[in-house]
Amino acid sequence: MHIIFFICFLNIFITFIGSEPTCDEILPKELKQEIQSYQAIVDRIIKEVLSGGYQNKTYDELALFTDTFGSRIAGSDNLENAIDYTLKKLQNIGLENVHGEKVDVPHWVRGFESAELIQPRHQKLNMLSLGYSVGTPPEGITAEVVVFRSFEEMYVNAAYAKNKIVVFNEKYTTYGETVEYRSKSASYAAHYGALAVLIASVTPFSLDTPHTGMQSYMDNVTQIPAACITHADAHMLARMQKRKTKLVIKLIMSAQNLPNRVSRNVIADITGNQYPSNVVIVSGHIDSWDVGQGAMDDGGGAFISWNALGLLKKLGLRARRTIRSILWTSEEFGLIGAAAYFKSFDIKSINLIMESDLGTFKPLGFDFAGNLKSSCIAQEILKLFKSIDLTYFKKSSSNSVGSDIELWTRVGVPGISLKTLDEKYFWFHHTNADTMDVENPNELDLCTAVFAATSYVAADLSINFPQQINNTLVDIMRQKQKTPLAPPQ
Ligand SMILES: [Zn+2]
Repeated sequence: MHIIFFICFLNIFITFIGSEPTCDEILPKELKQEIQSYQAIVDRIIKEVLSGGYQNKTYDELALFTDTFGSRIAGSDNLENAIDYTLKKLQNIGLENVHGEKVDVPHWVRGFESAELIQPRHQKLNMLSLGYSVGTPPEGITAEVVVFRSFEEMYVNAAYAKNKIVVFNEKYTTYGETVEYRSKSASYAAHYGALAVLIASVTPFSLDTPHTGMQSYMDNVTQIPAACITHADAHMLARMQKRKTKLVIKLIMSAQNLPNRVSRNVIADITGNQYPSNVVIVSGHIDSWDVGQGAMDDGGGAFISWNALGLLKKLGLRARRTIRSILWTSEEFGLIGAAAYFKSFDIKSINLIMESDLGTFKPLGFDFAGNLKSSCIAQEILKLFKSIDLTYFKKSSSNSVGSDIELWTRVGVPGISLKTLDEKYFWFHHTNADTMDVENPNELDLCTAVFAATSYVAADLSINFPQQINNTLVDIMRQKQKTPLAPPQ
């Protein structure tokens, strides 16, 4: 009896000290009521995209943009022409403080590329060189192939990698985990004397589509050519090797890293009428890969970001704080535009930072980073979207959400990455299939409405989103140079 009583007491004690206060306990009733009072404005914003003059506008604008400029890789004239066009557009719709902020960006060009299996039989392999990769000599590299399932398998069979074209037939688990094969394979394989590396594309599903993306070389390794091939071909090569068939591939790549060029982050505001120097940012990236049209990655995110402001402007809604749309440049080559802004703009004046870079499919809710109180405010704002079924809310345990905005959320700025029905995102990611056919007018409308309404409410509230800035981390991140990766042991 005594023991049972003790265990019960212990349980109650652990529950008491281990649990966080609830949002009902954290948010004063008045603040909840204040947030709820925005319901009519949120409904008006949603109505405007569902049945008003803004219906289909984001889709039509994005289609015109991608049809006119196509893909927009960093360093290209396409990207700069697309930026000029966008700046003019934002000025024409009457947004304020419209300007481009100069950023030095990498200039990598793909050039001609091909991969051909020449032994045991001839077959063209669908491939794409990876960003920052060097090319092959003009005559190409013709070499025997070794296929590994994982880095671990290469380490224990390291002697087989020497003077070979190494193929990684890695298994896709999650993007975050599997992308290591794209970013590090060249350096790891070069460490063991490989001549070039081909990876199975980082995707859960493939219709023989290769998926490009960025890779980086470690210091002190030979820079070898790196490309991706399709799942089907990687699987075939693995089967052939298992039968002890000798495999030879001829790889020709003329990829080059040229001197940096100047690009621009695109900025446009609706200036706050009470606290103009305090800003809520809505953002996406305007650059893309050089394959496909960059309609999904990240044309959609960029276009809902500026159309959110266009929509607020049309409805005559001006908040107390400034709402700023930023279209980042050169995300694909390592958050280059965002890093420049992180260094130059006062972090404390950012009230909330939002991003969409996982597709503009049907919106579901928020991936959130920030402290408990700010998370409760965001959850209360989310309740204003019941009519369009936004219920998803996840608070990051590592304070990191999004891609470009992660720089800010990691140091304690509250941030929202728009969560959409993104199951198919990585089917199209960084491929020739990233076109307007992935986009849907109604889903884009809803995403625009969510960005417009969320940024408006956040920018107009009587209180700031509570920040928890880690100044030491800010200093470290601002000074951060390219950190060399550790070689595998
Ligand atoms: Zn992206």
